[in-house]
Amino acid sequence: MERLVADYVVIGSGPAGQKAAIQAAKLGKKVIIVERDTVPGGVSLNSGTIPSKTLREAILDLTGFYQRSYYGQEKPLREISIHDLNYSVDQILEEQRSAILKQFERNKIQLIYGTAQFQDDTHVQVLDQEGRPRCLIQGHFFLIATGSKPRHPIDIPFDQNTILDSSRLLEIDRVPKDLIVLGGGIIGSEYASFFSALGTKVYLADKRERMLAFLDAEIGMHLQKGLTDIGLQFLGNHIPESVEREEKGAHVRFRNGTSLHADALLYALGREANIHDLGIEAVGICVEPKGYIPVNALFQTVKPNIYAAGDVIGQPALASTSMEQGRLAARHAFGERVHHFPTVFPIGIYTIPEISFCGYTEDQLKQLGFRYEVGRAYYHEIARNQISGRDTGLFKLLFHAETLEILGIHIIGRSATEVIHIGQVAMSFNARIDYFVDQVFNYPTYAEGYRIAALNGWNKIKQKM
Ligand SMILES: Cc1cc2nc3c(=O)[nH]c(=O)nc-3n(C[C@H](O)[C@H](O)[C@H](O)COP(=O)(O)OP(=O)(O)OC[C@H]3O[C@@H](n4cnc5c(N)ncnc54)[C@H](O)[C@@H]3O)c2cc1C
Repeated sequence: MERLVADYVVIGSGPAGQKAAIQAAKLGKKVIIVERDTVPGGVSLNSGTIPSKTLREAILDLTGFYQRSYYGQEKPLREISIHDLNYSVDQILEEQRSAILKQFERNKIQLIYGTAQFQDDTHVQVLDQEGRPRCLIQGHFFLIATGSKPRHPIDIPFDQNTILDSSRLLEIDRVPKDLIVLGGGIIGSEYASFFSALGTKVYLADKRERMLAFLDAEIGMHLQKGLTDIGLQFLGNHIPESVEREEKGAHVRFRNGTSLHADALLYALGREANIHDLGIEAVGICVEPKGYIPVNALFQTVKPNIYAAGDVIGQPALASTSMEQGRLAARHAFGERVHHFPTVFPIGIYTIPEISFCGYTEDQLKQLGFRYEVGRAYYHEIARNQISGRDTGLFKLLFHAETLEILGIHIIGRSATEVIHIGQVAMSFNARIDYFVDQVFNYPTYAEGYRIAALNGWNKIKQKM
């Protein structure tokens, strides 16, 4: 069996693994990445972030979603085939994979395809697809970046075309007429909104009263209204009791005695860490009760030379956060200056309409007893929005009523996931709300929403003085 030696062995080529490997290579280290799949990029590129966001864009384009809101929704939707939708997805995935491979090549990172399994805390064995040993790698430092996969309870009869998880949904051969989505988390809500925009009748069921319950409640209400407007039916307080495949479609019975039938079903009730064939027991790493690998603030496991980052360590489980965790882990391993993971970072939710936020929600501020004020800008007040398609939406800025420090930013509407970064930067410099009042913004832009919202909040404070 071939024997290899490396300074840094990265297991998994998703966002966490990629950024860690590149960082270590930039520090002049010999890096090997082991990837179990036959292509690089992880869930993020192959079945998660990139395909879902490309699909979203394709749906918005092909349905003329924004133009329809401008020129009238009454125009019938044209029939869109799965082929139309897959066209751009396939192209973009190919381009992205090739970009990753070039990046590895430029940085002299060796990519080995196979399943990595720890032998001890300085060796991993790589197995080929048939489970035969392919090579043994000796490393000084390791990063476990093996990500996560959809949870598959044994009583759910998953298949290729009817009862689907988020990966299989991307492989269906037709656009379903109607779709049941179980789970109102980010993945379930995003796909539910995409298919609604496409003209599929979508039922989104969740055990909670509202979808995406962690959102600021006001933003959640806007989301629910936006989704109802495009035909989505949200069923709160619905806990599934059984899921069955029928000759034509899927059937769900709920504990409250109701039931639903549809052409297809997306099961989006949770994900689990990929730890099963890693052999972490051999190095004494145990998982938390939820199955994730515990790490310290510097992403070290109980074995100081073995780090873990990305979905395999649990929340927030985003490509964006995984990348930075991986980079920080590699820097720490090789003695470079590191900072703790930022406390202020945005969460982006690509539902239609999209949402992004950072900092506290209004409910959290109430619970913590803050004296706060709210500044709002509705999208109908923003000239750019009038020009681009007359969406509904809201900028909501929460700030301290005495110090004026910005405590939370919540945006729903077009470009929310882009413009949030302006507020994120302001918050990380502890900016006060008047910062936005005193700036000149490009006009007409969505970003102008910050100024309008800040003025709205600032005027409320002045009236109370
Ligand atoms: C539908 C969907 C949409 C999403 N949308 C977004 C979004 O819009 N924005 C965002 O920031 N995040 C999004 N995410 C989350 C994001 O995809 C994940 O957080 C991210 O992929 C995690 O990166 P990672 O590097 O930890 O793992 P992954 O990307 O999961 O990569 C892990 C890699 O490790 C490999 N592997 C596993 N075990 C082994 C082993 N033993 N040996 C070798 N290789 C192994 C796997 O094959 C895989 O390639 C989405 C996820 C899904 C499912």
